[in-house]
Amino acid sequence: MLSHIHIVLVGTTHPGNIGAVARAMKNMRMTSLRLVAPKIFPSADATSRASGADDLLSRARVCDTLREAIADCQVVFGASARSRTISWPELTPRQCADEIFTRHPGERIAIVFGREHSGLTNEELDMCRYLLHIPCNPHFSSLNLAAAVQVVCYELFVAAGSNERKVIGDRGECPLATAEQMESFYDHLHETLVDIDFAQPGKSESIMRRLRRIYNRIELDTKEVDILRGILRMSQGHKKSRKQ
Ligand code: SAH
Repeated sequence: MLSHIHIVLVGTTHPGNIGAVARAMKNMRMTSLRLVAPKIFPSADATSRASGADDLLSRARVCDTLREAIADCQVVFGASARSRTISWPELTPRQCADEIFTRHPGERIAIVFGREHSGLTNEELDMCRYLLHIPCNPHFSSLNLAAAVQVVCYELFVAAGSNERKVIGDRGECPLATAEQMESFYDHLHETLVDIDFAQPGKSESIMRRLRRIYNRIELDTKEVDILRGILRMSQGHKKSRKQ
């Protein structure tokens, strides 16, 4: 029941933390671990800290980029110890679990955790629909990576139990767009904004971040993304033919 929720660790430095995360996940019946460019993996340290959850380690998918790791996911949460200057919609682990089981039943979910020393970059958070923050001492807000994963997985475990009798089905209409479809859409949108002289190449980071927030709020499905990309293609063609 929790196999559609993927825990994604980005750039983990200490292999022991990867093992501890696998253990925290298995305690809560989570099964899918994805690793983005871990510093050292596989490793004896990871296996020993997994304390019997090494099956999760051997099945863990290792990717070069976050984009690749979340490509097939429809809803992506980014866990952060810090608030950011641009505010992403922020949820507690309980709200996140509730969101997953009541608003997105059956959809593929990624929950992304950052590096031990520096967390997630803003560019990585751009790929997330929600920021997930574990409420704690505001003057000492950075939990150990595996402890943060533990808190989140516990809430998922509890929410999954209380939603066990609810029907987990698909949306009935069209499936939500995946992260890969959304990233390709944003690339296309940016390219079009440059083509129509609304944005300048390399200078549109802040506008793109705000546009992502708008589209994240409305949760596009596959068909809607196709329509928007059709409009982008037409705008590009129109601009090109006017230039000729
Ligand atoms: N020094 C880093 C924190 C790294 S802790 C920073 O300032 O961002 C490693 C990871 O654990 C974080 O990237 C985040 O994914 C998770 N984490 C730690 N504390 C958290 C908290 N209070 N809420 C949500 N995630 C947290």
